[in-house]
Amino acid sequence: MKCPYCGYEESKVIDSRPAEDKKRRRRECLKCKKRFTTYEVVEKPLRIVIKRDGSLEPYNRNKLLSGIYHAIKKRPVTVAQVNAIADEVEDKYTSNWNSQMTSDQIGAVVLGHLKCLDKIAYIRFASVYQDFKDVASFVATITALNDENEKHRGQ
Ligand SMILES: [Zn+2]
Repeated sequence: MKCPYCGYEESKVIDSRPAEDKKRRRRECLKCKKRFTTYEVVEKPLRIVIKRDGSLEPYNRNKLLSGIYHAIKKRPVTVAQVNAIADEVEDKYTSNWNSQMTSDQIGAVVLGHLKCLDKIAYIRFASVYQDFKDVASFVATITALNDENEKHRGQ
């Protein structure tokens, strides 16, 4: 990274912080001691969502968040908790070195969190995500949820 003042090749990083998708670095030239800022682009693999019908769509955090916010409307779930859910979805992409996830896999992460956080939000999200075909499958989900509650209480 050449110094913009004297052209010297070496500098030291005196401060580094993320800025959007970039990393902002304050550097100091080892020769003239002047300071300058560089921005380095952090490369992220493009994340893809495989939808039920097999079509592909770029992963969009905001879209995921709006789905979750819809489910938690007027429920005691915090912004930090919602962000944590989206973070975990993104961690899954990263940790598996996997640039593709199905909408079902993403839905399962969200439902796993909502199940612990708020049952009403869980049911709401499940009803949209799992697209209940009929009353019976809706009832089956709620029954499964109740059974689990009973189990927890019994412990
Ligand atoms: Zn310099």
